[in-house]
Amino acid sequence: MKLNRRSFLQSVGAAGATASLSGLVPGVTNAKVRGENRDIMAKRQGDIVYHSCLRNCADRCLLKFTVQNGRATYVEGAAEQRKTGTCPCVKGMTYIQYTYSPDRILHPMERVGPKGSGKWRRISWDDAYGKIAGRFKSIIEEHGSQAIMPYSYSGNYGAIGMYGAAERFFNKINARFLDRYVCAYSGSYGVMSALGTSNGPDPEDSVYSDLYISHGWNEAATNVHYLKYINVARDKGCKVIVVNPIRTPLASQADLHIQLRPGTDVHFFAAVMKYMIDNDLHDKAYIDANTKDFDALVKQLKTVSIDECLSISNVGNDDFMEFVKLYTEAKLAHWRLGYGIVRNYTGGRIARAACLLHAVGGHYGKIGNGLSYDNMQAWGCGDHDKVRAKHLRTNHDVGHVNITELAKALDPVNPTAYDAPCDPVKAMLFYNGNPAAMAPDVNKVLEHMKREDLFVVGFDFNMHDSMDVCDIILPAATQFETSDIIGSYGFFDLQVCDQVIEPLGESKSNWTFFSELAKAMGYTDPEFDETNDDMIRQFMSSDSPHLVNANIDYDRIMKEKFIKVWEQRPFLADGKFGTESGKIEFKSKYMEKKHFHPVLDLGQVEDWMIPEERNLPFRMVSPALIQRMNCEFYNVKYIRNFPAYTVTINPNDAAARGIKDNDKVRVFNHRGEVFLTAVVSDQVDTGVVLTVKNNLRRFNPNGSQTCTNMLTTDRLADLGGCSAYHSTNVDIQKA
Ligand code: SF4
Repeated sequence: MKLNRRSFLQSVGAAGATASLSGLVPGVTNAKVRGENRDIMAKRQGDIVYHSCLRNCADRCLLKFTVQNGRATYVEGAAEQRKTGTCPCVKGMTYIQYTYSPDRILHPMERVGPKGSGKWRRISWDDAYGKIAGRFKSIIEEHGSQAIMPYSYSGNYGAIGMYGAAERFFNKINARFLDRYVCAYSGSYGVMSALGTSNGPDPEDSVYSDLYISHGWNEAATNVHYLKYINVARDKGCKVIVVNPIRTPLASQADLHIQLRPGTDVHFFAAVMKYMIDNDLHDKAYIDANTKDFDALVKQLKTVSIDECLSISNVGNDDFMEFVKLYTEAKLAHWRLGYGIVRNYTGGRIARAACLLHAVGGHYGKIGNGLSYDNMQAWGCGDHDKVRAKHLRTNHDVGHVNITELAKALDPVNPTAYDAPCDPVKAMLFYNGNPAAMAPDVNKVLEHMKREDLFVVGFDFNMHDSMDVCDIILPAATQFETSDIIGSYGFFDLQVCDQVIEPLGESKSNWTFFSELAKAMGYTDPEFDETNDDMIRQFMSSDSPHLVNANIDYDRIMKEKFIKVWEQRPFLADGKFGTESGKIEFKSKYMEKKHFHPVLDLGQVEDWMIPEERNLPFRMVSPALIQRMNCEFYNVKYIRNFPAYTVTINPNDAAARGIKDNDKVRVFNHRGEVFLTAVVSDQVDTGVVLTVKNNLRRFNPNGSQTCTNMLTTDRLADLGGCSAYHSTNVDIQKA
C-alpha cells in the first residue's frame, strides 16, 4: 500500500489495533486465519473493567478489559472516550501478555551469593518484612533516617501507585528525599519565567489551529492519540512545522522540518524574533496589551546576528524564511513544546525562548492557539498531599538526592548531592523504576549498587538489571491488580483505574506492600490501615477549581469513569498571567537570579562540557522508541522483537568511518562504551547520532551487556534540577 500523509498518520495511530487483529500480539489473540476470529470474540465475552493506562505517556488511555473467571482476556480502548478511541497504542495492546508474562516474579527472594551472582532463594513475605524492617531499623539507629533512600520514577503513574503508597512509608521513616526531576522541570521553570504557569490550553482544541508547531516532541511515540486532532486540523488546511534534530514520523510528513543542531533552539528563535521585529511582522497590539519589557528584547536582539544564529543552529536560509512565512501567516498557531528538548543543558532557556517567540507572534488567548507543555489541570486537580500523608514526616532536614545524580549519591568515598557533600546512603529501596537502565552513567550506578555495605531492595514485577544486584527482591503486582485514580498530563481528563484482576502469585500492590512494611516496622498510625478507596476519596476531596467548577466528585468519577476537568477557555484569554507583573515577561528576575541573561540566554550546551567530552565529534540524542516506554515492555516478547539497540548515523558520517547498515559499532566516551547496530540514515544530520533511551543491558543482542545510559551525562540541566541526557557527546567506530 502506498502511504500518503493522511494514511500514514492514521496508520501510526492504528498500529496497535492492526497488530492485534492480525494475531501478531501473543496473549491478546492467537487468531491467525479468518476462521479463527471466533477466538477473539470469545475473549471479549465477560465482565468489563475500566482502567487507565499508567505509563508515563501524555495520552493516558482509558482501557477496557474483559475479565473471564478472574482472568483478563482482552484489552481495547474505551471508545466512549474521544481521545482514546477504540485503540490503545502498540504497547497498550500487549497488556494481557505484559500482565501474564512468563518472567513475572511471583514470590519474594533473597540473594545467596555475592551481589550480582544471580543466585537466589525463595523466602516468605513474613521473612522478607522481618529482614527489611530489621535492617532499616539498625541503619536508622546507626546512621540516621537519611541513610535510607527511595528510588522510583514513573513505572506507575497513579496517585496511589506513584506517590501515595510509598511516600506514606518514606515520610513516616523520615527517609532521604528523592527529587524525581528526570523530566519536565527545566522546561517548566523556563515556561513559568515567561508566562507564570506551565499549564497550557486543551490539546483537543488543536483541531481549530491553522499552524501546529511540534517542538522537540515525537507524537508517534508518546502522544500518538493526539495525532488524530492534528489530522483533523490538517484536513482543514492547518500547516505543520516540526522543530527537532530528529526526523520524527510527523516531521517526515510535515510542511517544514527545522532540523537544527541539538540544544541550539534559542539561537534559531532569536533569529526568527529579530527578523519579525526588524520587518514589522510582530503583533504590536498583543505585545502592548499583554507583555512587559518588550524593549529589553528589542535591545538584546540588536546585538544578535541572524546569520550567526542560523550558523550555530545549522539551519539554512530557505528553511528559516519558510518558517518565518508560515509562522507570521498563521492566525491560530498552537505550539507543542516537548519533553525531549528540555533534557538539555540549555533546556529551560529553550522553553523560555519558545514562549517569548510565541508572544512576539501574539499567539496566546484564543481557541486553537497557545503553547502546551506540561498540563497539570487534570493531573494536579486532586489532593495529592492527603494521599501522600505528608503530615507523617517529622524531619525535613534529611537532605535531597537528585534522581539524575544517583551515581554521585551512592559514591562510597565522596557521596555528593547538588555538588555538595552528602551523608552516605546505606539502604535503597526501588520501586516503579529500574536505576540500572534509566539512570545516567549506569556503569557507576551498578558499581555502587554492588557495594556490600549498601542494602538494596527491589520491588518490581519482572527481573531486570537492577533486580540482579539486590539483596532482596519482592514481587510487585501490576497496576491492573489494584485500583487507583489519576489525570492525564496532556489532555484534560480525570480517570479511574478500577481493579481488573487479583494480584498474581504472591505479588502485592504498591500500597499493600508499603502499608504492611510500615506495620512490620512497628508503626500503628491509622494512615496505614486505610484502603485504596479511602485514598481515592481523599484525592477527590480537593477544592481545586478544576474539579469544583466542573461539578466532579467521588461518586461522579467512579460512575462515569472519565470526566474532563474545568479550565478557562480560551486559555489565558483574560490576559492575566501568573508572573509577578501579571504579564508575559520578556525580562525575568528569576533568570537573572539563576545567573542567566534575563531576556534570552544564548549559552550553548558545549559550555558545560568538560573538554574531554566537548571535543568528541557526535551529539548523542536518546529519545523514546515507539514500542517501549522507558525501560518497560521488555517483558513482552512481541515488543522485545522491535530493535532497541541501534544507533542511527548520517550517511556522510558513516562513510567517513567505513560504517555500513547493520554493522556492529562501538559508541563511546569517557563514561563507557556501548555496542550497537548501525542504522545509516539521514534521519539525523551530520554530527548527531540517535540511540534508544533506557534500554536494558541484559537484552543487548550484541552480547556485550551494554546500554545507552552507560554514556549519558548526569550533570543537571540549566533550570529545575532536570536531567540533561541529550547533552552527551560520543564517538563511534566499527566494532
Ligand atoms: S502508553 Fe500511552 S498511548 Fe499507549 S496505551 Fe498507554 S497511555 Fe495509551
